[in-house]
Amino acid sequence: MKIGISACLLGEKCRYDGAGNKDDFVVNQLASYFKLVPYCPEAIIFGTPRESIRLVDVDGEVRVISNKLQKDVTKELEEISYTLALKAFDDHLCGFIFKSKSPSCGVERVKLYQNNGSNMCEKKGTGLFAKAVQQKQPFLPVEDEGRLNDPWLKENFLMQIFAYRDLDIFLQSEPTMHKLIEFHTSYKYLIYAKSQQSYKVLGAIVANSEKKKLASLLQEYKVSFLTAIALKGDRKKTYNVLLHILGYFKKDISPEEKEHILSSCDEYKEGIIPLIAVIKLLNLYVKRFDHPYLKKQKFLNPYPKELALRSDVKAYK
Ligand code: SF4
Repeated sequence: MKIGISACLLGEKCRYDGAGNKDDFVVNQLASYFKLVPYCPEAIIFGTPRESIRLVDVDGEVRVISNKLQKDVTKELEEISYTLALKAFDDHLCGFIFKSKSPSCGVERVKLYQNNGSNMCEKKGTGLFAKAVQQKQPFLPVEDEGRLNDPWLKENFLMQIFAYRDLDIFLQSEPTMHKLIEFHTSYKYLIYAKSQQSYKVLGAIVANSEKKKLASLLQEYKVSFLTAIALKGDRKKTYNVLLHILGYFKKDISPEEKEHILSSCDEYKEGIIPLIAVIKLLNLYVKRFDHPYLKKQKFLNPYPKELALRSDVKAYK
């Protein structure tokens, strides 16, 4: 499972000043689960060290200008960005983590300067390489490393990457209608935690009332599924999913057990305990009652537990 990374985040000394930007989360945690594929457009064309560059608004057009010599390097950067975006596509990635704020790699809020040599700017630009990757693969999960400091964005992003990978494996496994229904069903509660409406849309595709051919059905499903998993979940929707799941065995447990798990759900909703505390209880009952439908639910085990993303109360808003 491969993830694209701005090379400086791996500690490669490819920044304009010859330094790196090693990111602990990327290097120490993600490297255990993913093959990290580095990309640095600027080092390829300008070498390292090099003159720094910035995005400049020139008569409404975004140009890339070097800071010292005021050279317009837009064309070179666009060309290498396009080439590397094609490589990223061929590399078959499941996601991309870009370096924030960079005129090449920043996904959003990159400084866009006025064309008068001043330091007046607005944070509304996108780096040329980040833009090229997203144009080539609009549904690829992408984030910049700055935003991953937010536990809520981090949890959503990692969940999206693993779901993206699952869909990819499914589509490459000679899918049948039966397998599509199984795949769809396994994602019910994970997608419910983002949007019940999206799950309905996906359900209508799977129901196939127009009797479409499997290939076009899968293409339609893929687009809607990738759109759904890109949505951010929230505490309220997640709480509702917990109650839905509890409903499967509430008649099989004692009143004390029911009260305990309900109060745990409430404590999660109020931000007192992390989601993982409730999930562990639910998984215990799923195991005890050997519930086949729930055992397959990705919501209960969306990614390796060692990532511990649901152990943070701030991972839900
Ligand atoms: S931000 Fe992008 S272009 Fe700049 S050094 Fe890092 S990888 Fe290279």
